[in-house]
Amino acid sequence: MISRFAPSTTGEAHPGTLLAALLVWLDARSRGGRVVLRLEDLDVTRTKAAWAEQMIDACRWLGLSWDEVVVQSDRRAAHEAALDALAAAGRLYPCTCSRAARAGGRRAPDGSWAYDNTCRGRALPAGGWRSATEAIRVRLDDDRIDLVDAGGLDLSQTPARDMGDPIVRRRDHVIAYQLAVVVDDRDAAITDVIRGRDIAPSTATQVMLQRLLGMATPRYRHHFLLLEPGAGKLAKLHGSIPFLQLRARYDGAALCGILAHAAGLVSEPLPCHPGELVAAFDWQRVPTLDRVARFDEHGLSITL
Ligand SMILES: [Zn+2]
Repeated sequence: MISRFAPSTTGEAHPGTLLAALLVWLDARSRGGRVVLRLEDLDVTRTKAAWAEQMIDACRWLGLSWDEVVVQSDRRAAHEAALDALAAAGRLYPCTCSRAARAGGRRAPDGSWAYDNTCRGRALPAGGWRSATEAIRVRLDDDRIDLVDAGGLDLSQTPARDMGDPIVRRRDHVIAYQLAVVVDDRDAAITDVIRGRDIAPSTATQVMLQRLLGMATPRYRHHFLLLEPGAGKLAKLHGSIPFLQLRARYDGAALCGILAHAAGLVSEPLPCHPGELVAAFDWQRVPTLDRVARFDEHGLSITL
């Protein structure tokens, strides 16, 4: 069994990323598995090397260790080979449709606007996908994917219709998430993908890409998220509790205890080391409802 924690390094580490790391690590270690840290840094417009370094430091500070660290931007050749394979199968096409043009259309399961596969009939330029100046999409099969994850979450979709054909290479030539994730999981021989529920609506698209590329599908499980107050509603925790503030207030064991308590793994939020949680780790104890994280003069609180 090989698992991975795959944060995007587009901001500081925070309680949500560290909770995700802890759950992935505990799941793997409690089953005698290996676990890879994959730093997802392809989005050059949003990622910073300092945040990748901090993610490594933050996980070590919390008490987590990895069998391997993969940097996604080192994997360009593998991503390009997958695009070549999809191009050879006649699956790639350029798309100039803007996000604004889709607004008001059909809602996708992730809350965005679905893409209507408008450009499916368009051909790549004579120089192939590398010479295209537009975004490149992959034509999915129109089949339904029937899929329930290990936590019982029904992820079934007809991704070509519900989400629309995904972008696999962006207009700015960045390899898109949906392609990179399946290629990197395959090459690391990942058998189990444990990740936050915000990614769940993408799973059927990824399974379809695995089929098109002749890859096996790993087991999936999606866990609850930590939220923060956003524009009028709660949103996935991102910027409100940066790692440096946490480290100024707590040591790694203290934060581990708070996260383990929020995850239902201990009855009191007392300092502990991740290794002490392995023997009793059980997904049955982990809550399914998202929780709200707040940080003030009393410290970090994580509540329903
Ligand atoms: Zn289009």
